[in-house]
Amino acid sequence: MKNVYFKIDPWKIIEDGFKADMVRASESIFSLGNGAMGQRANFEEQYSGETFQGSYIGGVYYPDRTRVGWWKNGYPEYFAKVLNAPSWIGINISLAGIPLDLDRCIEIANFRRELDMKTGIYKRSFEAQLSDKIRVAIEVKRFLSMEEGSLGVIKYQITLLKGDADIKIDSYIDGNIKNQDSNWDEPFWDHKSKLVSENLLLLHSQTLKTNFEVATYAQTQLFDGCGVEIGNFTISHENHLISQKKEYSLAEGDSCFIIKFGGYINGMNHKVNNFKSIALDLISESSFKGFNKLAEEHKQSWSKIWEQSDIVIEGDEKAQQAIRFNIFQLNQTYNGNDYRLNIGPKGFTGEKYGGCTYWDTEAYCLPFYMATKNQGVARNLLKYRYNQLGKAIENAEKLGFINGAALYPMVTMNGEECHNEWEITFEEIHRNGAIAFAIFNYERFTGDKSYIPEMGLEVLIGIARFWAQRVNYSESKKAYVILGVTGPNEYENNINNNWYTNYICQWCLRFTVEQTLKVKKHHNKKWQSIKSKLNWLEVESNRWNEIADKIYLPKHPDLDIFLQQDGFLDKKLMPASKINIKERPINQNWSWDRILRSPFIKQADVLQGFYLFENLFDKTALERHFNFYEPLTVHESSLSPCIHSILAARLGKKEQAYAFYLQTSRLDLDDYNNELEEGLHITSMAGTWMSIVEGFGGVRVINDYLHINPILPKSWNFYSFKIIFRGTLIEVKVGKEIVEVLHSNKDLTIYCQGKFI
Ligand code: BGC
Repeated sequence: MKNVYFKIDPWKIIEDGFKADMVRASESIFSLGNGAMGQRANFEEQYSGETFQGSYIGGVYYPDRTRVGWWKNGYPEYFAKVLNAPSWIGINISLAGIPLDLDRCIEIANFRRELDMKTGIYKRSFEAQLSDKIRVAIEVKRFLSMEEGSLGVIKYQITLLKGDADIKIDSYIDGNIKNQDSNWDEPFWDHKSKLVSENLLLLHSQTLKTNFEVATYAQTQLFDGCGVEIGNFTISHENHLISQKKEYSLAEGDSCFIIKFGGYINGMNHKVNNFKSIALDLISESSFKGFNKLAEEHKQSWSKIWEQSDIVIEGDEKAQQAIRFNIFQLNQTYNGNDYRLNIGPKGFTGEKYGGCTYWDTEAYCLPFYMATKNQGVARNLLKYRYNQLGKAIENAEKLGFINGAALYPMVTMNGEECHNEWEITFEEIHRNGAIAFAIFNYERFTGDKSYIPEMGLEVLIGIARFWAQRVNYSESKKAYVILGVTGPNEYENNINNNWYTNYICQWCLRFTVEQTLKVKKHHNKKWQSIKSKLNWLEVESNRWNEIADKIYLPKHPDLDIFLQQDGFLDKKLMPASKINIKERPINQNWSWDRILRSPFIKQADVLQGFYLFENLFDKTALERHFNFYEPLTVHESSLSPCIHSILAARLGKKEQAYAFYLQTSRLDLDDYNNELEEGLHITSMAGTWMSIVEGFGGVRVINDYLHINPILPKSWNFYSFKIIFRGTLIEVKVGKEIVEVLHSNKDLTIYCQGKFI
């Protein structure tokens, strides 16, 4: 268990007191987003201490030329990176000539940050002693509107606690930004023009190479303590820094406040010629409404989100706070309105993983969006991959595959592979399986039978063709094998017959054959067109069946256990609990060579298969595998503890399930993996949701029926969650004595705790 730094509260995240060495971590925790844009919680005013500046725009990326030691044929040319965008939040303040800078002031008191997850409003307040004579109190409120994707709002209040002072306000847009993780230190943006006036700051920028055009806009207003606007800002610009400035005098005890509107107008959604008029309209509408009305609208949007997706836990505030934090962040990252967008492992909270799409989306995120939003949102996530099928085929061709075989990228922005490590790019082919599984999972849960004939089948055929070419027949084993892969456990590379990969290949092939037959039977016209579009031949199904029947699945010679890969038993097996605690996490302390030779598993691998395909294994098989693999797992991927939590819950190992739940849900809040400064683990947050709904709640679909089989963790008195299953909103309440399942669909039959209800 880790130390708790942020205060425990059911609806709020609170930092109490200023700690310079926590600034970067807190910038991650208090990040804001609204699906269209996001930003780390950087201070508005100047800060000369350690900080990680970050503002990001959904879908806008830069292809950073690959940098590796030794080039290998087939490497992607670039790593796509979500760009650090021009920042519009900056408001520098100086009082009596002294800059307000928390790194430089004489004393800081009552520093507090508070993120209210119910309303989506972030607050920061403090008092700062700037000199013997000047002491000031600051209170800031900020949100990125969930109503209007291009709008962010800041209210910055200044109260002079001691002394009289002239205040200088410098509210700006800063285009001089860089990505920390740039490969070549090249500029990513070309700033094309700027507009600097009293009514509008606007910086028109274009990304180099990808040519995304974006306008960063802002407008600042100053009000006296009674709320009367004080006009006449002056303007200035220097390179890519454009400002609105104002001087004002405050007497001791007086206050004033600044309202700043800002954000991005994205060329993906708007014509470049309209950037200025859109910004002006947004500003005039926002000024007319004012801060309180805009905040109210934003709160209403959050209230609707919570109405459908809140999870209530009684008796355990730590757990309660954590699940809300996870749900909050998922909603800040992706709202499903735009099928061109997806969910990066760090969302809008940092640069690592480049904001790109990983297998995380299908394997972890889909269930959350599928059950807490309307069906169109999950369908959009699937459509994203359908639209990239052509690129997946090209990607496979680059590696030597033919005839429409599709290898989806491990990491992508636009469908092209853009990860630069060979073991991930070339070898983590299991991602293809997760994409096929998501198609199955979507239909199973939503009941939408139109997706597979309309789009899904083409994806499945491309994937099946890939597997059929990727296997080879081993004469010695008399079976099909898959050589040279990396499984979900990235602490093993270039292994043969990773059980998870082979098993998901087998499943994909069988599922695709089944779906071709179904579409042929029920949507024959569509089938004929798919068949001719893809040049599909009957013999393909025969071959897929044959491979599936003869695929090699490595097994322990004595115990009835599938082995993670060929030769796994040659390792010196020992539990992870034997590792010196000072050497954890091993990826920050051991050489890569030592990790590869060790038996330790980064994240659920065989157990990932038991999670996805749990209906195909009985509980005793699960228990055997869990007992074998869990002690070897170091959970150094954020995606791991949630899977172990769900499986432990299924096995009735309540304590263990709960411990994993806390680890997954408080991973960032308590910084389990010592990397909070880099940003949040957004995709694993969906896994946290799964560990309550699927783990403790026992929600699964078996034989077309929704099953609900809850257990209650020992320290909880009660919990409740909601899911939308096939269009019906269902609320599940679990107490010490009772389980209630509430919905209003008379035609829905649910299998709950051993009986149909
Ligand atoms: C995990 C991958 C995951 C990636 C992004 C890595 O640490 O091993 O499975 O896709 O993070 O979340």
